[in-house]
Amino acid sequence: MDNLSYDIIIIGGGLLGCATAYQLAKRKAGRILLLDGNDIASQASSRAACLLTRARTKPGLMEIVQETYDSIGEIESFTGLSLGLQTCGSVTMASSETSLKGLEALEDAATRFGIPNERIDRDRLKELLPWIEADAVDVATYMPTDAFIDSASLCLGYAKAASKLGVTLKPHSKVASIKVERGRVGGVGLADGTVLTAGVVVNAAGAWANLLMRPLGIGLPFTPVRSHFWITSTDIERFPPNHPFTVIPDARAFTRSDVGALIIGLRESECQAFDPSTLTDKLDDFDFNEAAKWTVLDECAPLLKKYLKDIDTLPIAHYMSGPSCYVPDAMFVIGALPQYEGLFAVAGCCGGGVACGGGMGRLAAELLTGEKPFVNPDLFSPMRFGDVDPFTVEFQRRCADARSNKKGG
Ligand SMILES: Cc1cc2nc3c(=O)[nH]c(=O)nc-3n(C[C@H](O)[C@H](O)[C@H](O)COP(=O)(O)OP(=O)(O)OC[C@H]3O[C@@H](n4cnc5c(N)ncnc54)[C@H](O)[C@@H]3O)c2cc1C
Repeated sequence: MDNLSYDIIIIGGGLLGCATAYQLAKRKAGRILLLDGNDIASQASSRAACLLTRARTKPGLMEIVQETYDSIGEIESFTGLSLGLQTCGSVTMASSETSLKGLEALEDAATRFGIPNERIDRDRLKELLPWIEADAVDVATYMPTDAFIDSASLCLGYAKAASKLGVTLKPHSKVASIKVERGRVGGVGLADGTVLTAGVVVNAAGAWANLLMRPLGIGLPFTPVRSHFWITSTDIERFPPNHPFTVIPDARAFTRSDVGALIIGLRESECQAFDPSTLTDKLDDFDFNEAAKWTVLDECAPLLKKYLKDIDTLPIAHYMSGPSCYVPDAMFVIGALPQYEGLFAVAGCCGGGVACGGGMGRLAAELLTGEKPFVNPDLFSPMRFGDVDPFTVEFQRRCADARSNKKGG
């Protein structure tokens, strides 16, 4: 490593670190180094279901998702790469009073923000999604501009654009510690003993972020919670790739057609959190309790059976699981840590880093460069829960509950 001194060091080359690097570089924020202990885009950011759901009822989130869509267009023009955005549309369904209320709130939010949305009848639903049992659906809303994108391609797109704008990317460089002295950040120490200096350190280390904060006496308010989905065997006639993705809150499910198979995401009623100190450096070496892939499917399948009648016999070809970093209020963690000047976090993605990463990176860059933030940063303040200890079972339970209670896709 030739240069040992930077203005900003970002730890983590997933979607959040790479999007932050891109947004900082666009603002000419100085000499920026991004470090990852593994390859860029190789951890949670290569395991996502890749939905870019636009309509949201929580404040600030539609603006944040819109920034991701805008960044995709910008990066494609700037780098000449195609990131493979697939505008397939989405259908959200309701068959209970609670989910109907949720759907109405979503439609209102979408309309206010200018996101096209239309109620569709059962004939149109069947036309869009021939596999669905339309009689099970009371109300359905189609949002034709929703899309999905391969999450690793998007992450590499941010990285490529950041690099073209002058950011130094160093994969296979594990940070062992964040250096602090007299109340401020001084840089980082690498696992190989190298010390790199910087006045600003951005912790975007995903599920591992709290392991770097712990020696500093800081707890970021999130913990890794298992997210997962199942992929059926290929049946291109039934699940062609251009079908809209679905969000079915009454079945705690979403689906997406992917290269001729169906991705089925299911949320168990009690989601599983993990103590960050048990994580291995690489997710490939970590057991997210693989055995749960059948027990969770058994728990959730009866709810989905109304909509996908042969779920019990549908051949399952793959199972994908990984950590999503959930915060008790299901919002993100973006901001400065007051304990040490120059210490900053972009983390706590709550299962939305693909859709929201571009906007999270923008907010982080605006706060770091002193620009006027485009959304209210207090919503995402790392300090909004006061002091927390993410290594306790009690706090991990609160984070898992945030996923268990999630309604959207
Ligand atoms: C099964 C599943 C489905 C999902 N589906 C969706 C979806 O449909 N839509 C959506 O928007 N989001 C989805 N997500 C969430 C999305 O994948 C995450 O929000 C996103 O990948 C988080 O990015 P990240 O940068 O925080 O984490 P990561 O991609 O894990 O990046 C963190 C990086 O930090 C590095 N690192 C850690 N510690 C150190 C260290 N000490 N030194 C150096 N580097 C370090 C790691 O190597 C890693 O590369 C899903 C997630 C999962 C698991």
